[in-house]
Amino acid sequence: MELNRRDFLRLSAISTVSVGLMYLRITEFAKDGSPVYAATSDTTEIPIIWLATGSCTGCTISLLNSLSPTIRNILIDEVVPSKHLSMRFHSTIMASEGELALEELKKTALNKGNYILVVEGAISTKDHGIYCEVGEIEGKGITGLEQTVSLGKDAMLVLAAGTCASYGGIPSAAPNTGGYTSVTKVFADAGIKTPVVNVPGCPPHPDWFVGTAATVLISGIEAVKLDPYGRPLAFYGKRIHEICPRNGSFQLGQFSKKFSDPYCMYQLGCKGPVTYADCPIRLWNSGNSWCVGANSLCIGCVEPGFPDIMSPLMKKAEGWEVDPLALPKPEKEDTGISPALAAGLGAIAGAAVTGAGVAISRQISTKPKTDEKSQKE
Ligand code: SF4
Ligand code: SF4
Repeated sequence: MELNRRDFLRLSAISTVSVGLMYLRITEFAKDGSPVYAATSDTTEIPIIWLATGSCTGCTISLLNSLSPTIRNILIDEVVPSKHLSMRFHSTIMASEGELALEELKKTALNKGNYILVVEGAISTKDHGIYCEVGEIEGKGITGLEQTVSLGKDAMLVLAAGTCASYGGIPSAAPNTGGYTSVTKVFADAGIKTPVVNVPGCPPHPDWFVGTAATVLISGIEAVKLDPYGRPLAFYGKRIHEICPRNGSFQLGQFSKKFSDPYCMYQLGCKGPVTYADCPIRLWNSGNSWCVGANSLCIGCVEPGFPDIMSPLMKKAEGWEVDPLALPKPEKEDTGISPALAAGLGAIAGAAVTGAGVAISRQISTKPKTDEKSQKE
């Protein structure tokens, strides 16, 4: 059969990321341990619409780096038995474009309450959101704000992928001329009740996104336990500082004085003591390293208020003294950030956003072990 260009694009629109009716299921493992796949058609499809608003596309690129499952598994196989995430619209990875692609989006959205909306990027709200258009219908631009509201109100769930969609992130940094904000804020203003799960990170680790989506598929949204900032505790329940391999240096008062030193990076401005994520144990880039492991700093990219409240990112703010040992611990293993710490972060946000050059000080009074003389060179 010959296909002309238009037929090919139409076929792409329905098959590029939603690859048909047959899926691959692991049925057994061969003697060498490799999985044996069989095609199956008794699979429930969960349609996904991936909306990119004010973003750099980094969150998509991070997802494409997913190791287990791979992006091929996610798009072609069953992510969990009998369930398949059917990516119906994703402006970066779909082959179709323009109105043809938007037709597929519209068709998916008719299935009210039965699709997952992923939002990547912050949403411009100033002047009705005209600073971020995400497409065009019959010559008229559609804003990210309109799409977030219209697709979000009928979704079964919204996954806010990345810090921008979760909390505003870099687009909302001062002076925030486009009025960028988070999905949660847009929903609150529009009175939308659809549940939102935040998966922050700049970008988020692919496991954080895939693991959250898989949990929803297996056990439902109620199975995803969230911290006070709407993040899954499974990935964001521990303070970086407490699981950092350099915590031993911190305890001994050994601090790096330059980025190539192998000690605790606190004096250089590491934000691990006020950041909740499992980077030190999960590791990035297929389990290779993470920010501090690569001799850089944790810049607190998963926290509400990032980047303003974490600035200056690559050095210690004047007067910023934290005793990570004295920070309030999560109340229980899985309760996340304590109200006291949350209040502290809020206060810092206030100071940072006013731009008054106020020396940032957390609510902690005890000084860390910063005896410079005891530090090794
Ligand atoms: S301050 Fe940073 S480098 Fe030092 S122990 Fe804590 S997280 Fe690790
Ligand atoms: S270590 Fe900190 S800055 Fe790096 S990815 Fe994790 S939370 Fe973000």
